[in-house]
Amino acid sequence: MKPAAFAWHRPRSVDEALELLAQHADDEKPLAGGQSLVPAMNFRLAQPARLVDLNEIAALSYMRPTSDGGVAIGAMTRQREVEHSALVAERSALVTETLPFVAHHQIRNRGTFGGSLAHADPAAELPAVAVALGARFKLVAQGRERWIDASDFYQGLFTTALEPGELLAEVVLPPPAPRMGWAFEEVARRHGDFALVGVAVMVRASSAGDVDLARIVLLSVGEGPVIAVKAAAALVGTRAGESTIHEAARVCAAHDVDPPSDLHASAKYRRRLTEVLTRRALARAVLRANEGGARATQP
Ligand code: FAD
Repeated sequence: MKPAAFAWHRPRSVDEALELLAQHADDEKPLAGGQSLVPAMNFRLAQPARLVDLNEIAALSYMRPTSDGGVAIGAMTRQREVEHSALVAERSALVTETLPFVAHHQIRNRGTFGGSLAHADPAAELPAVAVALGARFKLVAQGRERWIDASDFYQGLFTTALEPGELLAEVVLPPPAPRMGWAFEEVARRHGDFALVGVAVMVRASSAGDVDLARIVLLSVGEGPVIAVKAAAALVGTRAGESTIHEAARVCAAHDVDPPSDLHASAKYRRRLTEVLTRRALARAVLRANEGGARATQP
């Protein structure tokens, strides 16, 4: 398959890219790792008249500690670099645990952290993880910048808060809190395939041992990351023992998701997976929370 004809721009700076994007916002697309956009163009599912290739912009590729103990990741940082970063492992262990599930390592060598988040595939792992972590996204356009919570960024199927001419420039992952546990679980037909269902979980235990915060976010069961509000409510304020975890997972599958049936799995099977994976993820996250959770080295 060959893409439709397009013009290719290769800016060297963010300003140059934003100028190009401002000129032709309606028929232009940023090109990051190309691991989703290029196949879509080859199948003519996407036919942008112009590509603004971000690959020469070194200023968009970095991982930096933030002063509060979190980490800032430039949008063009390759997924594989993030996966192997000691800084990210120390400050955002959920990201490190999840990245090996994203496609195959050849794809992660090219695919970017920001590209996956901006693409907003409902079966992608990183959007659900960003929402579970409470990440914040820096969006830039010519002459302006704004910040948005990951949970507000996702607005529907392959739809985000990005406006024409805007780029996702940076993602800030908050610092790990004491007694905060994390876990990621998914099932795919083969490792590296898009997940049939996945779940990212963050759970915090109070000093008294009760759960005082729970974020449970699912992928592949809706039009984007699905926040399991009812399951989280079933957990908060409890000791999160085996029976509470089972009940929260049951509530999640019964009331928080309305999964689709498609070629890959029936809605019934996805619901069953939702319950089993949520139970496993919660059990691991609660264990980690009770063991003290992740503690960042304070700068
Ligand atoms: P691109 O393909 O370059 O861009 C994707 C979209 O985002 C485009 O619309 C582009 O314009 C836009 N975009 C990119 N960067 C920005 C930015 N900074 N600001 C604004 N818009 C931007 N992904 C998963 O999550 N899980 C999987 O299991 C998985 N399996 C895969 C299997 C295969 C065989 C392949 C080919 C891909 C798979 N992917 C999977 C997708 C892969 O992770 C991609 O890397 C990712 O979705 C897109 O990242 P990219 O950097 O390649 O972006």
